[in-house]
Amino acid sequence: MSTTESTAVTRETTLTSVDPATGEVIATHPIADEAAVHAAVAEARRAAATWGSLSFADRKRHLLRWSSRIVARADEFCDLIHTENGKPRDDAFLELMLALEHIKWAASNAEKVLKTKKVSPGALMSNFAAYIEQRPLGVVGVIGPWNYPVYTPNGSIGYALAAGNTVVFKPSEYSTGIGNFLAQLFAEANPELPDGVFVTINGYGETGAALVRADIDKIAFTGSAATGKKIMAAAAERLTPVLLECGGKDAVIVAADADIKAAADAVAYGATMNSGQTCAGVERVYVDRSISDEFVAEVKRILTDIHPGSDDKASYGPMTMPSQIDVVRRHIEDALKNGGKAVLGGPESIKGPYIEPVVLVDVDENSAAVREETFGPTVTIRTVSGVDEAVELANDSTFGLGSSVYSRKQGLEIARRLKAGATSVNSVLGFAAISALPFGGHRDSGIGRIHGAPGLLEFTEPHSIAVQRFAIPGMALMSYTRTERTMKLLRRVVPLLHGRHK
Ligand code: NAD
Repeated sequence: MSTTESTAVTRETTLTSVDPATGEVIATHPIADEAAVHAAVAEARRAAATWGSLSFADRKRHLLRWSSRIVARADEFCDLIHTENGKPRDDAFLELMLALEHIKWAASNAEKVLKTKKVSPGALMSNFAAYIEQRPLGVVGVIGPWNYPVYTPNGSIGYALAAGNTVVFKPSEYSTGIGNFLAQLFAEANPELPDGVFVTINGYGETGAALVRADIDKIAFTGSAATGKKIMAAAAERLTPVLLECGGKDAVIVAADADIKAAADAVAYGATMNSGQTCAGVERVYVDRSISDEFVAEVKRILTDIHPGSDDKASYGPMTMPSQIDVVRRHIEDALKNGGKAVLGGPESIKGPYIEPVVLVDVDENSAAVREETFGPTVTIRTVSGVDEAVELANDSTFGLGSSVYSRKQGLEIARRLKAGATSVNSVLGFAAISALPFGGHRDSGIGRIHGAPGLLEFTEPHSIAVQRFAIPGMALMSYTRTERTMKLLRRVVPLLHGRHK
């Protein structure tokens, strides 16, 4: 962004939410400037004293009440998600359902995962008791994307709250109303709690940047790798820890022994659902030569009947962020220019905010459509000589988020060879719906994990406590009263403990 542009953004005081299907204005929100961000963080800091000192059972009660409130207003929430984000109402409901599952898991498992654990002090320190406490960090800043505007940031919000932190959330500028509604429902469900347990601040990237600079104890970001890198650099100023959930270029391996129809069905859905705007959506497929023709024909057959729109019959909605349409167009054109073939659709599939499914084959592995995140309803399918080639090509990416394998007999074995944060076998995206499984990636896909036990631990820090229960006469190792006799004894004991391995 140039200086002129950034000055222009600074002067804006309101943010307008629009329906991506029609361009109609839905709402206008005040933008939080630096002072407003600091005020929100200060309020969350005050609330952290109360929220952090509640028992796990009390926090669980508040979180589950929030869930019930979301359920009670689900129709209204789905309408809002449909209008502001574009996705069909049924998909909005599925998103809420997944978020509810995660809130329940986090609330119900926080005590088991985070309660104080007694650990062995070891033979030489046997007069000590040793404990690990997992303490909440305090205030967690959450910055979210727009593609799954509830499910995705909730992977941080729900787990951070369950671990005893308060949350300041900056929703994406493309899903501001949705983010605010989520926080409003928390407040409505829990009127007796102080303000500031879960609050939102609205704005563009600048507001997010102000949150990163503020007095927070961790920043949990979900969005593009490019923004993730900026956030990590900015967070370094105060050594604020980061959790980064960034993009992906997920591959599916379809082995020779795969159930071809099931694999084609999953690829067709995983590549195009939510208009392909899914961080762990299917972007690349590597299929065994022996079944490749049949598989491609089946994917094409399924997707021929799949169409975007905004009516109740639409399979998926418009592109939420207008600028992404140009990225999708560039990837399709680049793929075709470099020898790829479109077996379904092509550049003409881009129709205003809607993009019809596009299936590309034989695309050069160095082209943008294979190397960069497309984030549109397109997929590249490459024929390979076998599992080894498929694994090598799937792993040849700067991203490493999700992945899938279709194979009747070797699914688990192939899954273990993939460099990704998660792999589904004989399904796509199965891992994202299992609350106990951590979710996240490496390299350009990010740092750290949401969901599951690691997702709770992300929002705590260990506090180690060593309690001397009694003194052993003459064995005060960390004291000037240590005797020569003690050292002689140690010289005999240490080889017995550590010196007998051949
Ligand atoms: P984005 O990076 O453009 O924006 C994400 C958020 O960061 C927005 O709220 C934005 O306002 C904010 N932001 C922008 N610049 C900032 C800055 N300098 N400092 C602080 N905040 C800043 O991403 P997006 O377009 O909203 O989301 C799409 C991306 O998110 C895709 O790459 C997708 O793969 C990824 N994503 C990842 C996951 C995951 O769990 N790994 C989930 C969903 C989406």
